[in-house]
Formats: sequence, structure tokens, C-alpha cells
Amino acid sequence: SQLQKMDVPQPKILKTPLDVPSKLLMGPGPSNSPLRVHYAMMKPLLGHLHPEFTKIMDDIKEGLRYMFQTQSTVVCCVSGTGHAGMETTICNLLEPSDVILVAQNGIWGERAADMARRHEADVRVIEKAAGDVFTAAEIEAGIVKHRPAVVFVVQGESSTGALQPLEGLGELCHKHGAVLAVDCVASLGGVPFYMDTWGVDVVYTGTQKVLSAPPSMAPIAFSARAMERVKARKKPIRSFYSDITWLANYWGCDGTPRKYHHTGPVSSVYALREALSIACEEGLESLWSRHQSCAQRLYNGLEELGLKLFISDPTKRTPTVTTIRVPDTVNWMRVTKYFMEKYRVEISGGLGPSAGQVWRVGLMGYNCTLDNVDLVLKIMKEALSEEEKLNS
Ligand code: PMP
Repeated sequence: SQLQKMDVPQPKILKTPLDVPSKLLMGPGPSNSPLRVHYAMMKPLLGHLHPEFTKIMDDIKEGLRYMFQTQSTVVCCVSGTGHAGMETTICNLLEPSDVILVAQNGIWGERAADMARRHEADVRVIEKAAGDVFTAAEIEAGIVKHRPAVVFVVQGESSTGALQPLEGLGELCHKHGAVLAVDCVASLGGVPFYMDTWGVDVVYTGTQKVLSAPPSMAPIAFSARAMERVKARKKPIRSFYSDITWLANYWGCDGTPRKYHHTGPVSSVYALREALSIACEEGLESLWSRHQSCAQRLYNGLEELGLKLFISDPTKRTPTVTTIRVPDTVNWMRVTKYFMEKYRVEISGGLGPSAGQVWRVGLMGYNCTLDNVDLVLKIMKEALSEEEKLNS
């Protein structure tokens, strides 16, 4: 018989039930999803090219056009998380030796530069200290010096909590023959963003932040100018999976019948459809003001506790991720453990340039409520008094 002795037995652990605790995710992502989004994922599976499914994809494109504030035809999702959006941006816009200028003020600029080097682009970097942002004049000076084909900036730098102003940058890039790519993973829906008015050529985000859907997809949009650049490539895009011309076809954006590119993550697509319905029902103005007022309550409460924010200028902070300086006398990790062990609430330590120096508190979408802000403040107060006891 074909049956042979198996060296690998059935794993006993899989005979025990799946055990998932309920936690309040107040770090820089993922955020929790509302029940409506969880229920959407329980709907029956469809085939990835069934008409009922492609209709849902079309609905999502409408929702994303609203969220990105764009009329662009190429609006779709990469199957993968925020990094997949970044990779798609880089590998479609750049050919070997093309110059990209990365405005780097945290880990996400570093990652984009790393990806662009892997694609053999000529990477030029302008840098700012962690927590700071670039002025338009500084970016223009970088463009004049390096003559890039692509300029990359991060709107919400979640490693530091900084909010990069974008108004006018598109025009600036276009004047010098460059396209503008923006990472909005940690900011879209929490702060104003106007793709068309601001002349952004490529923008991507993630589903698990303000949209409060599970991590799984990277919504992305390409302007006509960005698509012209892709069409003018001398060599094919080096990643089949991330090829925007294939993705645009699968998402019904190129006016030709959809072809099989990959199997869309069907249940995650339902979740995103529901998350976008929720965001559109609330409306962008309300979303933006809710994030601002919750963040303001958090800033005030933290200051009352004697804590200092990492970014002193409030206009440079993204309300979606607040970075708090860890006082010298406090062990940051013990505090995050206190949050988790006593309350099952997640807040995070720093990342990249802010590692060891800050806590990061996320206020994103479904989790961005005054009650959650008050809970974080209450736990922080307790955790700090525990630290004081240990010090005395
Ligand atoms: N860019 C920014 C600004 C982010 O905050 C994140 C996620 N923390 C990413 C990119 C990467 O997203 P993901 O972890 O979903 O791949």
C-alpha cells in the first residue's frame, strides 16, 4: 500500500479549543473591530470572481474614493497589510537607478528606503529628528538637490507620533517632474487627507487602524500621473503579485474584463466593506473631529498626571498615535505590563528612534472614544503610583 509510517504525528495542541482573550487594543495598531465588522466575516464565502463578490469590491472602491478624497480610477486594495501597500508603491513607481527622495523622520521612511534599495533604486534621504516634520521648503530643497522621480513622505509617523503637513507638496513635486507618494497607514480617517486637492499621486493605508477592520489589506490609489509613469516603464514591474496594472484589472479599474490575478481574501473584503459603511455613515468631518477631541482629552489628562508629550508642538502631532515621554524614574515596560496584566489593555513602548523613550497610545476608529481615553488615563495613574511605591 501507499501508506507509510508517519514521522510527524497529529499535534495534540490542535485538539484543544482555540483560546483568544478579549483585549482593548490602545496601541498604534491594530485597533479593535466593531461587532458589525466581525459579523460581516461570518457571511458565506463566494468565489473571488463571482459577480456578487466583484460588486462588493466595487462598493469598496466607492468608499475608498471618499476616504482618500479622490476621483481617480485606480483605487483598489493589495491583499496584504500596510507593508504590502508600501511595497506596491515602491516597486511600481521605480526602476533600477531611478531616484527616490525619502523624507525620513522615523521607521516608516527607513522601511521605504530599504524597500527601494532592494529594488535597486537610487535612494536619497532627507532627515529630521524623531518627532519633527518637514517644511515644504525643506522638501523642495531636497528635490532641487537630488532631482528625484519619486518623493516619499509619511503622513502619520506612528513610530514618533508626528503628523507631516501635505498641503502644497503635490504641486511642488509636479513642478519638478516628480510624483508624490504618501503613507497614510496610521492616519487615514483620523486626520484630513485630500488626494486630488493635494496632488498626491500614490497613497496607501491599512485596514486595521482607523478603519477598524482586521489587518489583511492595504487600500491604495494611483493618480493618472502615477499610472502614466507605470505605463512608461522600460522593464516590467518586478513583483507579479504587487503589479498595479494587474491589481487595477482585478479590481475593475481599467475598463477591461476582470482576469484572475490572485484569490482575493474574500471574508476580509466583506469586513472592509462593512468598516467603510460605518466610516461613511459617520462622515469624514465627524471622524476627524472625534479623533482630535479624544486626543485633546488624552493630552490634557496626561499633563495632569505630570507626564510630558514627546512632541511639544501640538500642530505636529497626529491624534491617532500619541507618544508620551517615559520619566527617568519609571520602567516603561513594567507600566505596559501593568496595563495588560491587570486590565487587558494594550499600550505600546517606542519603536525605532523612539524605542525606550516613549509609550505610544493609539486612538483609532472604533477605539477612539472618550471612555477609552479616560480608561487609559485611569490605568496610567495607577501604574505610575505603583512605580512610585517601587522607587520609595
Ligand atoms: N506605515 C505606517 C505609518 C504604519 O503605522 C504601519 C503599521 N504600524 C505600517 C506602515 C505597516 O503596516 P503593517 O504592519 O500593516 O504592514
